[in-house]
Amino acid sequence: MNHPDVVIVGSGVMGAATAYWLTRLQPGLRVTLVESDTRYAQASSSLSASSIRQQFTCPVNIRLSQFGIAFLREADEHLGLPDHPVDLGLQEPGYLYLAQPEQAAALHTAHQIQTSAGADVALLGQDELRPRYPWLNVDDVALGSLGLSGEGWFDGPALHQAFLRKAMAQGVQRLHDRVVGLDHTDTHIRAVRLASGGSLSCRQVVNAAGPWGAEVAAMAGVQLPIEAARRTVFVLSCPEPLPGCPLLIDPSGWWLRPEGRFLISGAEPLLSAPGLPLEPDWSEWNDTQWASLAHRIPALAALRVERAWAGYYEMNSFDHNAVIGPHPALGNLFFINGFSGHGMQHAAGAGLALAEWMLQGKSTTMAVDELGFERLLHNRPLRELQVIG
Ligand SMILES: Cc1cc2nc3c(=O)[nH]c(=O)nc-3n(C[C@H](O)[C@H](O)[C@H](O)COP(=O)(O)OP(=O)(O)OC[C@H]3O[C@@H](n4cnc5c(N)ncnc54)[C@H](O)[C@@H]3O)c2cc1C
Repeated sequence: MNHPDVVIVGSGVMGAATAYWLTRLQPGLRVTLVESDTRYAQASSSLSASSIRQQFTCPVNIRLSQFGIAFLREADEHLGLPDHPVDLGLQEPGYLYLAQPEQAAALHTAHQIQTSAGADVALLGQDELRPRYPWLNVDDVALGSLGLSGEGWFDGPALHQAFLRKAMAQGVQRLHDRVVGLDHTDTHIRAVRLASGGSLSCRQVVNAAGPWGAEVAAMAGVQLPIEAARRTVFVLSCPEPLPGCPLLIDPSGWWLRPEGRFLISGAEPLLSAPGLPLEPDWSEWNDTQWASLAHRIPALAALRVERAWAGYYEMNSFDHNAVIGPHPALGNLFFINGFSGHGMQHAAGAGLALAEWMLQGKSTTMAVDELGFERLLHNRPLRELQVIG
């Protein structure tokens, strides 16, 4: 335990997925996950909307989603244990982005990128949207972009737990402690210091600390532009069923999707500052928001707000994209951070890519080099244009 090969800081879905892949690719590798809160009360992986889409504008994100959906469909084969089958309740009704006339050109551009990358996405006009979704008001909508397959939602905490359980069944240790320091030279990390007083020397260290990734990077003198960006999710009940309801993204910015017999919905926050307390911001639920929902879905004029929760996006303020791979100078410090609200769906692919990078020097299953740390140093943002809320 005192000398693992790899220490992973944080055991949310990213840490757990990385640990799973490392020990699957190299059985016997000694991997320790250090986790400060084994209840995961504030972890993004517990508070996620856990949806998956193919509709990104960066091809690398589409590749990660293509891997992600294939993995989710076969989650039990990958992660099931004899006494713990895995059922993620995956549903695939698609994402539907709606555009008003002035947004239609952007949707056309995104569509071109997505279809060239092999995503199964269709552009639909009012005449096609009306019969498909009779409960939806599209009078002011010029175009909708619908994922025909590979898009929907799943039980994210169940995926997180399944990665953890399987990783531990493969020999990964989880230590309940807080990482408080990284002993390092100019070229590598020597040991991970723990709040309990001990330290772990190791060959490689992974920063999988989610919204707290910048704090962990700073322990090695590294600046990582990740902020804990609070997002509130409202749970609504609607008096009428909305058959075939996809994950809807309104031109005004809010999103909504079914969750069991309820709906969940969120929007870009009114108040944004890093690290706000994890309490729902009820001021986001106002008459304007209600009117906007009821305009789009007239049945929602009679909605009820059942409850709300808040979680942190681990927002990369540089370009809204993940950072995956080693630090260019501190060669044994690896990142899997900054997924900016789309990490749950990318965890399987990102964990594999990072594990390959750590074990073989590069990711071979899918190219993720564009997400490497270098772009931060050389001020070369890789901007994802379709960031939700
Ligand atoms: C409201 C909301 C909606 C979302 N919707 C979606 C969605 O629809 N689809 C999607 O794909 N993604 C979505 N996401 C994003 C997704 O949930 C995250 O990208 C993902 O969960 C990040 O996982 P993580 O492991 O990096 O972080 P976390 O789950 O936060 O895990 C990090 C862990 O590190 C631990 N830690 C931190 N610092 C230390 C330390 N110093 N020592 C020890 N442990 C430490 C923390 O305790 C925590 O458990 C959403 C997120 C939120 C909040």
